[in-house]
Amino acid sequence: MSETVTNNKETRGFQSEVKQLLHLMIHSLYSNKEIFLRELISNASDASDKLRFQALSNSELYQGDADLGVKLSFDEKANTLTISDNGIGMSRDDVIEHLGTIAKSGTADFFSKLSEEQSKDSQLIGQFGVGFYSAFIVADAVTVRTRAAGVASDQAVQWHSAGEGEYTIETVNKESRGTDIVLHMREEGKEFLNEWRLREVISKYSDHIGIPVFIQTVVRDDEGNETEQKTWEQVNKAQALWTRSKSDISDEEYQEFYKHVSHDFAEPLVWAHNRVEGKNDYTSLLYIPSKAPWDMMNRDHKSGLKLYVQRVFIMDDAEQFMPSYLRFVRGLIDSNDLPLNVSREILQDNKVTQSLRSACTKRVLTTLERLAKNEPEKYQSFWKEFGLVMKEGPAEDFANKEKVAGLLRFASTENTSSEQNVGLADYVARMKEGQDKIFYLTADSYSAAKNSPHLEQFKAKGLEVILMYDRIDEWLMNYLTEFDGKQFQSITKAGLDLSQFEDEAEKEKQKETEQEFKSVVERTKEYLGDRVKEVRTTFKLASTPAVVVTDDFEMGTQMAKLLEAAGQAVPEVKYILEINPNHDLVKRMADEPDEQAFGRWVEVLLGQAMLAERGSMEDPTQFVGAINQLLAKA
Ligand code: ADP
Ligand code: MG
Repeated sequence: MSETVTNNKETRGFQSEVKQLLHLMIHSLYSNKEIFLRELISNASDASDKLRFQALSNSELYQGDADLGVKLSFDEKANTLTISDNGIGMSRDDVIEHLGTIAKSGTADFFSKLSEEQSKDSQLIGQFGVGFYSAFIVADAVTVRTRAAGVASDQAVQWHSAGEGEYTIETVNKESRGTDIVLHMREEGKEFLNEWRLREVISKYSDHIGIPVFIQTVVRDDEGNETEQKTWEQVNKAQALWTRSKSDISDEEYQEFYKHVSHDFAEPLVWAHNRVEGKNDYTSLLYIPSKAPWDMMNRDHKSGLKLYVQRVFIMDDAEQFMPSYLRFVRGLIDSNDLPLNVSREILQDNKVTQSLRSACTKRVLTTLERLAKNEPEKYQSFWKEFGLVMKEGPAEDFANKEKVAGLLRFASTENTSSEQNVGLADYVARMKEGQDKIFYLTADSYSAAKNSPHLEQFKAKGLEVILMYDRIDEWLMNYLTEFDGKQFQSITKAGLDLSQFEDEAEKEKQKETEQEFKSVVERTKEYLGDRVKEVRTTFKLASTPAVVVTDDFEMGTQMAKLLEAAGQAVPEVKYILEINPNHDLVKRMADEPDEQAFGRWVEVLLGQAMLAERGSMEDPTQFVGAINQLLAKA
């Protein structure tokens, strides 16, 4: 290394999130400390990828002059381990941005969720992706010397930190392009100052990356004695994993590669590796994670796909190749059809992009279908993590609507728990003779759905109802109108008709009762005036005196709530009051000669029905007043 010309030296503080991350990491990842090597080699490999990519448009930067690779050397006396690459390097601004802050939005939020309980944190923090900062698990001080491609040797940058709140940065001299990372080992890191330990970790984590990883070894003479000479020995295969044939790749290799591309600590749930020749010529390696990334629901969540063209890395976050509802998919696509100088703009409306996107989408859906069929328990764990995102599918992906619908899971009256594990195909298979609709109910919570008075007649008739209680469900049902040729029917809509499940005698009797009740209905309507759209008798209730429903094409309660929560102006929902003529309360009301007292009964019925439907009412005082007056008289 050449002499350091101190220049422009300054001390800067880490962003507070970085301090938090460093603290948490050192305290929760010590049992997993070898991962620092995976992270640093992974960064070196990314840096080589980026250099190759930039050289496509600026050949000055790299002309294949030196082969790209990573070199590891250690010095037991000095207690240091050095990881060097000849990749893209970093400018002073890059260093400040990448090694002093965490750019991801929502980070502060994420950290506030981490508890002091460390066993849980190690998983969470792994999900977050610790990257470069993992160096501090094994090192009590780290020096980074880096020279960006295309920059003069005296404009290199040195960064140094003991990982405690501050770092220094200065301009130095560096002969060669790329980055050296020097780790000053803590006691716990000393085991890595050992050739065999390093070889072991590299082959475990870095066999599959595309550039060679070298380790410095001592040359031995003919008798096997150590000499003064040292040499570089390649320790990994250095063949990009996806270019190898499927049958040669072990599950462990796929899993390690996943950690490299995804920055996830956990094992992937499933993956699909395909080479396609013909109209389009490409390889895809797509992974479904086992855990949802911490920021999956953030607006600016990045897609997890990398794009390669003819084995050259082109970009991260290639969101063009996957619809947004599959944004949890990680992995890569390597195309032989796209031009090397492809940009995001070119990808935007490009035929190749479109057909790759559609093929990759299908591949993910098929992989999930297979998982659901062959390993339902695994699929259930997938659903718990990603179900909410999958529910965006029917709205976004018209072409695959039926496939996506088949992958959805819901709670249902068939089960006793809130677990979403009923598929629409299960439902259809259980449909009753003559049933041609899929009945569902949306509510604020599972218990509100399960206890809804609307379910009474379904219980009595033994009809299954799908219970939906996620916020997104009401919106989903605007797009999901049928499955397997069967229409969906909300059971809180006025158009619900279950007469096909009733016999003639029952219908006859209902007609009679309805006739007898006509005057009560009219009196009620008279009293309520514009407060409801309509009043009618219903025979679908058992233990509940009244419910409110909405007309089929009117906005329903859950939709109104959804819009309200989004801050939109919502027109008033027009409710229809349905009263149960067989209920004792209603019978008493019908017998009430005094108009004022009758009005109180109506208030009680409507108030109850609104409470059950909305969880709130417009005028609680009026409701309570009516109850009190009735009670006082009783
Ligand atoms: P990630 O790899 O997920 O982006 P890291 O914490 O591992 O996060 O690295 C942060 C950033 O620092 C990288 O995105 C890259 O810009 C920069 N970086 C880290 N190591 C190197 C390196 N060896 N060469 C060039 N840039 C690097
Ligand atoms: Mg990294």
